[in-house]
Amino acid sequence: MTIKSVMRFVTHRITRHPDSEVTVTARCLNPDCTWEVEPTADVAKADVDCMVHKGATGHGIFARRYEDVAVVVRDE
Ligand SMILES: [Zn+2]
Repeated sequence: MTIKSVMRFVTHRITRHPDSEVTVTARCLNPDCTWEVEPTADVAKADVDCMVHKGATGHGIFARRYEDVAVVVRDE
């Protein structure tokens, strides 16, 4: 039995999809709190919202998640 394989190396690159934008979510890590920032592309406003939450509650630690849509294209 003969196994043949064809290996073809093609260069690809990955970038943010041109129709997408970075979104951020933030969730308060205080164990008694469920406050969170809904996903938004306004990263600066999400930061301000966290600071306002700190001012109102004293909670100052947040899990932040940034997300974008990536696309891989073949380099021609
Ligand atoms: Zn909180």
